[in-house]
Amino acid sequence: MSEDVDMEIREREEPMREGSLDLSAQNRVPASIYLDNQATTPTDPRVTEAMLPYFTEKFGNPHSADHAYGWDAEDAVERARAQVAALIGAEPREIVFTSGATESNNLAIKGAARFHKDRKPHVVTCTTEHKCVLESVRRLEREGHRVTFVPVLADGLIDLDALREAVDEETSVVSVMAANNEIGVLQPIDEIAAICREKGAYFHCDAAQAVGKIPLNVRETAIDLLSISGHKIYGPMGIGALFVRRRPRVRLIAEIDGGGQERGLRSGTLPTPLCVGLGEAARIAQAEMEDEQRRVEILTERLHSSLLAVVPGVHLNGHPAQRLSGNLNLSFEAVDAASLLKAVPQLCLSTGSACTSASVETSYVLQALGLDADLAQGSLRFGVGRFNTEAEIDEAVVMLAKAVSKIRDDKQG
Ligand SMILES: *Cc1c(COP(=O)(O)O)cnc(C)c1O
Repeated sequence: MSEDVDMEIREREEPMREGSLDLSAQNRVPASIYLDNQATTPTDPRVTEAMLPYFTEKFGNPHSADHAYGWDAEDAVERARAQVAALIGAEPREIVFTSGATESNNLAIKGAARFHKDRKPHVVTCTTEHKCVLESVRRLEREGHRVTFVPVLADGLIDLDALREAVDEETSVVSVMAANNEIGVLQPIDEIAAICREKGAYFHCDAAQAVGKIPLNVRETAIDLLSISGHKIYGPMGIGALFVRRRPRVRLIAEIDGGGQERGLRSGTLPTPLCVGLGEAARIAQAEMEDEQRRVEILTERLHSSLLAVVPGVHLNGHPAQRLSGNLNLSFEAVDAASLLKAVPQLCLSTGSACTSASVETSYVLQALGLDADLAQGSLRFGVGRFNTEAEIDEAVVMLAKAVSKIRDDKQG
């Protein structure tokens, strides 16, 4: 019997000792190398530990105002709200908990556009936004809003001249992400915020990939709405947040009606354990961002330069410097990315965003950059994160180099 199977059986038979946290799954030597931290990040063990009591002895409904179970849960939720707020320089009451960045983006964009439709029937976004932003805008278009999709330049950065031209006095909301989930480029959010302020449009920023990785401060940058996702910052899946500015006040129409929780913007019982997890993830991100990003950048740089050194015909997609420190989107000449991934089953990488990687269509983000179709088909997204090691990077490079040269050899016959 293998050790793994043995351990699984023992885990099932032995109830967990009180006060002990079994992290064996997270500590086990991985059979595979996870380099897809833009799709999701593993939950930090400290986050898991902080959440556990709120599934068991502290199970109260945070909205129960009549007893200690409710008060304890409410205290935990409010502590988490303050931790999330602190990470982006917001006030706690400007944070609305949601189920994730998808819901935050929907609430921000549709909520703002619908509230202001009479006087401001125009919405602006960018062609390389996440699907949930693009689809929210398309729904508004079907509802009769005028919409503009601003293009990007060849380096993936938004065309600021085109944006300036697009935004007018009728624009309710401009939605542009801080960091792209496929190519990692950082959009010029200070410039975008200034354009929005000048025209009186709200600036919504999908910061799912940027939060905890680059400094973001809603008091220094005029961001009116900002989306956060738990599972992109080493927190749990199924939780996120939306920052909604109070001064000047941002007005939204809620998507979910009910008991009026979250100041009427998002009804439903808050999931205390998930809120606590997001709060702890935010606390860790804030405390460790600088050191962590330095480490991640060194690993990513090592990955990039080693690949360039041993594999000919590798190209970086997106701006070479204005990018997330852990992201590389690389095209391999004369290689089909799907075949390459099949040849290195131990490497967990993706051919594009997780939402579209199941389909064979080429990435709309790479298309928007004007990338040649063959190169787009040969592109892989690498996402280096908190738990990656130098040994993993070196091993990944060796595996990829072998696989690429085999694929190219086979092709030539
Ligand atoms: C992951 C992601 C989302 C969706 O977040 P969920 O919390 O999974 O709903 C939205 N935008 C970007 C940029 C993302 O990377």
